[in-house]
Amino acid sequence: MFGKNPVRTQEAGDGQRLWIQEVFYTLQGEGPFSGQPAVFIRTAGCNLRCFWCDTDFESSEWRPDLSEITATVESLRPAHCDLIVITGGEPMRQNIVPLIRILLSKGYRVQIETNGTLWLDLPEHENLSIICSPKTPTISSDLVERIDAFKYVVLHTNMDSEDGLPSGSTQLADRPSRLFRPPDGATIYVSPCDERGQLEANIKAATESALKHGYRLSLQTHKIIGLP
Ligand code: SF4
Repeated sequence: MFGKNPVRTQEAGDGQRLWIQEVFYTLQGEGPFSGQPAVFIRTAGCNLRCFWCDTDFESSEWRPDLSEITATVESLRPAHCDLIVITGGEPMRQNIVPLIRILLSKGYRVQIETNGTLWLDLPEHENLSIICSPKTPTISSDLVERIDAFKYVVLHTNMDSEDGLPSGSTQLADRPSRLFRPPDGATIYVSPCDERGQLEANIKAATESALKHGYRLSLQTHKIIGLP
């Protein structure tokens, strides 16, 4: 979207019908489940507008009900795949709680990828994990303690020399901003931004940050191997 998407607020729906960009089968490319086969549910719309974001989450007109979403997941999911990733856009912008409950009841592991700014009363479940990639100075205080791992998108031009995490705004290029910092002891991934022409320098910066501060380097494996 490259900073062109409309900023959309959180919707107060009953979650029985969602605006979905796409559902697809791939390998999870980032974070704790990197390398594992997964069905991705990409919800549409986002409440932020990151200037480097290259994901299409606005072009869909598909608004399936939950039975259609789960049927689509089942049609794409090989028997060996029990990981369902709900991503966006910003998935917490819509009421995804009923969808999560259905997926958990079927025995799947469910991973939510969120920017952390929005709160939903998510179920407590051992098979539900939350990965937060902060894009703002603050995130939902209710969500913080539920987050299993943090992931930071690294641009070599915006690195805090103290902690090796981003020091620049995600919403406006070339503006300083201290993005939310995780609590002590949190699991932290650093992921180089796939910015046009800057990937090599960003990989170098993320690698140095991981080595110096003990973070985990997370490359976008799915892109390297040419999967969506
Ligand atoms: S929060 Fe994520 S999906 Fe939304 S604009 Fe930023 S990078 Fe893109």
